This record gives sequence, C-alpha cells and structure tokens, in this order.
Amino acid sequence: MNLDDDLIAIKGIGKKKYKLLNNLNLYKVKDLLTNFPRTYVDRSKVNNINEIENESISTIKLLIYDVSETKNAYKKSTLRLKCKDTNGYNVAIIFFNASFLLKKFSIGKEYYFYGKIVKTHYEAKMFHPEFSDSMYNDKKFLRIEPIYSLTAGITNKEMINIYENIIDNVLFEENLFSPYIIQNKLCDINYAFKNINLPTSKEALKKARYRFIYEEFFNLFLSLSLIKNKVKSSGGIVLKDLPMVDFYKNLKFTLTKSQEKVWNQIKIDLTSNNQMNRLLQGDVGSGKTIVAMMAMYLTYKNNMQSTLMVPTSVLANQHFRTFSDVLKNFNIKIILLTGNTKNKKQIYKDIELGKYDIIIGTHAILEEGVKFKNLALVITDEQHRFGVKQRNILSTKEKNVNVLVMSATPIPRTLSLIIYGDVDISVIDQLPSGRKQIKTHYVKKNKINDMYEFIRSKVEEKRQIYFICPLIEESEALDIKSASELYKELSERIYTKFNVKLLHGKMKAKEKETIMKDFSEGKINILISTTVIEVGINVPNASIMVINDANRFGLSQLHQLRGRVGRGEYQSYCFMTSNKMGDTSKKRIQTMIDTNDGFEIAERDLLLRGPGEILGLKQHGLPELKIGELAKHSQIFEIVKMDVNNLVQMYNQGEKASVEFIIKFIENRLSNNINI
Ligand code: ADP
Ligand code: MG
Repeated sequence: MNLDDDLIAIKGIGKKKYKLLNNLNLYKVKDLLTNFPRTYVDRSKVNNINEIENESISTIKLLIYDVSETKNAYKKSTLRLKCKDTNGYNVAIIFFNASFLLKKFSIGKEYYFYGKIVKTHYEAKMFHPEFSDSMYNDKKFLRIEPIYSLTAGITNKEMINIYENIIDNVLFEENLFSPYIIQNKLCDINYAFKNINLPTSKEALKKARYRFIYEEFFNLFLSLSLIKNKVKSSGGIVLKDLPMVDFYKNLKFTLTKSQEKVWNQIKIDLTSNNQMNRLLQGDVGSGKTIVAMMAMYLTYKNNMQSTLMVPTSVLANQHFRTFSDVLKNFNIKIILLTGNTKNKKQIYKDIELGKYDIIIGTHAILEEGVKFKNLALVITDEQHRFGVKQRNILSTKEKNVNVLVMSATPIPRTLSLIIYGDVDISVIDQLPSGRKQIKTHYVKKNKINDMYEFIRSKVEEKRQIYFICPLIEESEALDIKSASELYKELSERIYTKFNVKLLHGKMKAKEKETIMKDFSEGKINILISTTVIEVGINVPNASIMVINDANRFGLSQLHQLRGRVGRGEYQSYCFMTSNKMGDTSKKRIQTMIDTNDGFEIAERDLLLRGPGEILGLKQHGLPELKIGELAKHSQIFEIVKMDVNNLVQMYNQGEKASVEFIIKFIENRLSNNINI
C-alpha cells in the first residue's frame, strides 16, 4: 500500500463510503493518516470505585448479579443492572429505553463500563455508560480511543476500522533533519503516525503529539526563514548620530521614559552598521508617532529620505497634518501620497530628485513609478493592517534600507517571530502622564436615553464625541442600526443644536478629509462613523466613544476603537451597546470592561480566536497549524527556532547534510504547492 493510493482501493471502502470520506476532504491514504483525531477517550485505566471522585469519568470493572427492566405508565422502560465491584461496592448501571440491550448482559459475568460515576450514600450509579460487549474484546475496550471528525453516514467505529486496516501497511519516509531527531529525542515518523491515530498508551500518544508539534513548527519556521533569507541583505545604511537638541526644544511635551528608551534603541540601529529590522509596539495612545518622527528627523538631518506608510488615507492625512505642524519650524519638505493625490508624475519626479525629505502616504507609495533618491528609512504604522507582500515590497525596493514597523496590537514573541521573522522588538509600556483610565460601560437598551443626556452635558463642556456603527446602510440584517440611520436620528431628533456629521468609507476621499479636519479642529461636536476611523486617529479633545452593535466587532478592533479617546487630559468614556449577544461577544465585552491594557486584551483575543485566524496563515499561502498551538507550546517553539536558525546557518556555510536537507525540503514544498 502506498501513501498516494486512492482510498477507494482499500478493502472495505466501497463507493458509498468513499464519497462520505471525500466529504471530509479525504481522498488518499496520506490524507487519511494526516487527518488526526479531534480528541481521544481514554478508557485504558481501570479504577476502583472508592478511588474515584464523585461525578468523574472513569472505567470500572463490575460483576452483574441482577438484571431487571421496568416500564412506567407511558411505556418508557428502565433497564437496571445491579453490580458489585471487586471490593463489594454496589453499583447500579441504568439505561432508559434500551430494551435491545437486555440480551447483551448475563448475570454472573464481568464487564467493563466507562462513564460518569454518580455516588450516593449506599451505592454508585452510572447512566448509559459505554461497555465491553461482543463488539469489543477487552483489549479494544481498555484503550485510548481516537475520536474523529465525522460526517453523517460514518460512525467513529467505522473510521477506526479503516485506520486499523491501513496503519500497519504503509511506510512514511522520515522528513525531519535526522540530527535533530536524535538531539530532541523525537520519535520515528511511523511510530508517530501510528500512535497519534491509534495510541498504544498515554506515553506513546504524548510522544507522537510532541513530534508532530515540533514538525509543524519546524516546517513553518523553516519556510519563513527561507522567505526571509531571500530579502536579507548584509549591512544597513549608516546615519550619523547628529544632535537633536533643536527637535527637543521644539516639542510641546517631554518624552516619557519609555519613549526615550525606545528612541535610543532605534537610534543605535540607525547609526550602526546593522540594518534596522525593528517592531515598535505600544498600546493605543502611547505616543508612537513622535518616536517615528524623531527617526525621520534624524534621517533628514543626514540628508536622506524616509517614508511613513499607513493603511488608510484618513490616517495618512492626519499624519501629514501632524508632521507638517510639528516640523513647521524646520526646513523639511514633506509630501502626502495617497490614491487620489493629483499631479503624481511631477511628485514622482521630485521624489526621485530628492526634493522631498519625508514621504507620507498609503500603499500608493508602493506604486512602481515611485523611486527615491536616497531612501534610508521605511516606517509602516498600524502594521497589522498590511499583508505580508506589501510589507516586503518596500524593504526590497531599496537595498539595506532600515525598517521600522509600528503596531498597537501587541503579540506574543512566538507570534511575532512567525509574522515578522526575527525582528527586534521595542515596547512603549507607559502612557504619557496625566492620562486617565477610560471608563468603559455596557449600556442596556433602557439606559440609552441616559447616555444621550450624559453626552449632551459633555458636549456642552466642549468635549467631542464619536459614535461607531458597523455598517453604512441598512443591510439585510435589519437589526443593525446603520450609521446613516443613526445620523438621521441624532441630528434631527436628539442633538438638533449640535453640529453632527457622518463619515463613512464610501464617501469621496476629499469629503472624508474635510470632515476629519473639521473634527480635529473642534468644529464638529459629534461624529458618526463606520470603522474608517478605527486605526490611528488622534483627536485628544474627543472624550466619548460610543460603539453600537459592539457584538459585531472583534476584541482588538474594540480596543482600537476605544483607543480613539483618552488621548488627552480629559476623563474619557467608552460606551458599548448591542442588540444581540452570543457567548463570545459577552466575553469580549466583559474583557473590555475589565481592562484597558492592550497586552492583556491581545492575550485574551488569542485565547478566544486562536492563533491561526490572527495570523491568517492560509491567506499567506502557508499551511495552517493543525496540532501546534503557539500560545500553548511556546517552549517547543523556542527549541524549533534554535534548531532552524542553526540549520539555516549551516546551510549558508555550505555544510553538506543541511544543504541536501534544505534542497529536498524546498522541492517537496514546491511539489505540494506550499508557499516558500
Ligand atoms: P499612538 O501610539 O496610538 O499612535 P500617538 O502617537 O497618536 O499615539 O499619540 C497620542 C497622543 O499623545 C498625541 O496627541 C500625542 O501628541 C500625545 N503624546 C505623545 N507623546 C506624549 C508625551 N510624552 N507627553 C504628552 N503627550 C504625548
Ligand atoms: Mg498611531
């Protein structure tokens, strides 16, 4: 039997079963064996009743001494087996409406039962347990049984039979680097496949799982290392460490200790021969922009160019305004480049001639026509909103360019390694002084009017307000109050005397810019918006964020939205409303109420969503993790990381075994259409 054999060729799999297996995406022997069990039922350990805790699940061995069946007035039957365990402990096994089981049990014989034990004063009970009847011999019953994902028409027992038919008749070729198998005491590939599907013991299952987790991380991390290797260059552009006194003098505030710390880390990168590849993390409102500006200012002083790329044109405009304003006393030439920038040809020419020092924009910066005179630094803000490809283009466009990526979404070290490769990380872990905790509340329907009144009082104190809705117009989901509908209600009915404006993604860019400008200048009291303002927007006078239909948003999005307020000296508030609440949305909203800490929120998000979705591995053409969990198995990940790094290093030095291994690895991946 071969791994590539079609399942239809297997004894016991007819056309009908084959179709059903296809429904589960199983076509070949290989598919079947790599389709790991969803979970396991461990019946292998037989316990004595007195050792078992009440309500726990266990296997016990019992002797039946009486069998009886009673029927009630509605003809419902109760089958009761009176049993004793080896210590004479009384146990009743009870089945409802299961007359067909009567013939399976004989008085005076011993059986194994597996289920939940309920203990009372004088006896123990088990309802509808699994039991060792003729279907099982004892050996089959007393084992760890795999539980597979099923489709209607196939039972778990049938699945197990198929695996049992196959497992001893195929051979996998070892696909890990053999020195690492020995070094990490990993089990052999065939042992692993056998024991992950049909474990012979708990220890064997553990060994098998460990190997597959290692293997999954190894393949993923090696792929990523090879991708990274392609774009890696040697030394970086070196800037002179020129004094920044004039910049500091010009600042309206003092940097926080944390900002100073990360600025120093960045400066060391920029002024050394190392090409900077750094991720700057800092919670919403922690003041990342100013740090970026300092790096760009130092680049300017070195007579070189830098770019700042952001995911939305609204944010690009804001950064452009901020930079132009803060740097107005210097002779720095700044240009904005977005999708709807006019006169692009001229601007491209001027950038290439070096007439601009700082280029701020959206991914329009990546367009082919854009060439630089002497680009030394590339910064992307709100990094998590960009795809892998966009991220790589900029850093490959110019050789040796220093790269800084900024993100408010803190991610565990293991995840960042996967997403960014081996970057250095700087963290701003402190908010500017004087900030007050944002007060976060869930507002019930009958309290909405109170909220409206509270908001009115704040507008009268000259504060500004955001209302966020998930959709622009009435959609098929009628329960969603769209932004335009809410706009109508608020502007025509509730806040007739205030300046209320609507902002959404489908508006023309110019229109959006004007509204955001007016809002940041305090001309608009209340802004109703879709999530176009989710990332990066900074209007410190805004102090209330109302998120409607909060159940529609993910946790990190909610935190980003809330981060639009609390950016100045005023006490700020975040109110969430929602018509419907599932369990997960309840957890998300509770998390928001519980904490303001972006790191903690990211961690809980990871637990709620799982890393696969956050990473979007599939989207990037990389295999999904089936068994490894980055959050849970970070220790294994650390080992893999070291192993892969060593392997790549040996490969770079031309060491024979590692070169052979990597060539085979690449061929294998390519023939399986896996991105590398
Ligand atoms: P984010 O990290 O979310 O991008 P910003 O860079 O937009 O945050 O900064 C948020 C606000 O805090 C801005 O108005 C900025 O001017 C202000 N700010 C930044 N650093 C400081 C500081 N050290 N002291 C006072 N205010 C600061
Ligand atoms: Mg920002």
